[in-house]
Amino acid sequence: MNRQKPPKGIEWTRIRQADGTELPGYTWNPTGGCLHGCTWRMPDGSITECYAKTIAERFTRGYPHGFEQHYWRPHLLDAPLRLKKPAGIFVGSMADLFGHWVPEEQIQAVLGVMHEADWHTFQTLSKFPIRLPQFNPYPRNVWVGVSLPAGQLMSASGAARALNAYLRKLREVQAAVRFMSIEPLWFDVAPVFEAWLRDEGKLPFEWAIIGAASDGRKTFQPERAWTAGLLDVLDGAGVEVFFKGNLEWDEWREEFPPVLMPKRIPAAAAV
Ligand code: SF4
Repeated sequence: MNRQKPPKGIEWTRIRQADGTELPGYTWNPTGGCLHGCTWRMPDGSITECYAKTIAERFTRGYPHGFEQHYWRPHLLDAPLRLKKPAGIFVGSMADLFGHWVPEEQIQAVLGVMHEADWHTFQTLSKFPIRLPQFNPYPRNVWVGVSLPAGQLMSASGAARALNAYLRKLREVQAAVRFMSIEPLWFDVAPVFEAWLRDEGKLPFEWAIIGAASDGRKTFQPERAWTAGLLDVLDGAGVEVFFKGNLEWDEWREEFPPVLMPKRIPAAAAV
């Protein structure tokens, strides 16, 4: 597992709990690689691909056949069990654990470890939400998230339709925390959420991460009106908001859902 130390790393793995304490953050990749092939068109017309793919192609040791492959690493399964101190662990920072290509028994094995290591809080993020309800109910220490559809090949209206389909699946998920990663905020998503609220009365997630677009060298901020509209609708719906460090905004937000995880520490576990 990789420690996500400030000021670098994935900041939202360092969960601030309801009692004000902050968990150390880690990433854990018992599966690796991804076949979604996400790309985004940047506001300057350039195309950028997924950051995980860029990293995998730079540090090829763990990805000898490239990033767009599936890697199963059962030798990494017990890593959370050996970590004694409660942590926030993002599962699959270099993968989509719930991708259509991942065998069900591998997903069940990973979920089994998350269930067993119940002193940690696990965060998962998928771009294939159709599969998520199949694994209901999730262990209570697992937060289940969905990312905004990626957009080079999509129009904003196509992405809005896809987002609606994602929300319908997220509504079926039985998890202590459901969340949306809205990163990059590349189209105006607030109207989609507003329409959903009008029809359903409640958004099907409790936490939202918002970020800007980046190609690794340059950051492109979303239109201010998109961010402002999104914050209005999320605040109105009672959704906690976490800003990625690349977002520029006046009033900084790093909220977490008010969940206090159990502090059980197994006596037999090694650090
Ligand atoms: S789903 Fe995530 S890991 Fe997979 S290609 Fe898209 S951004 Fe990359």
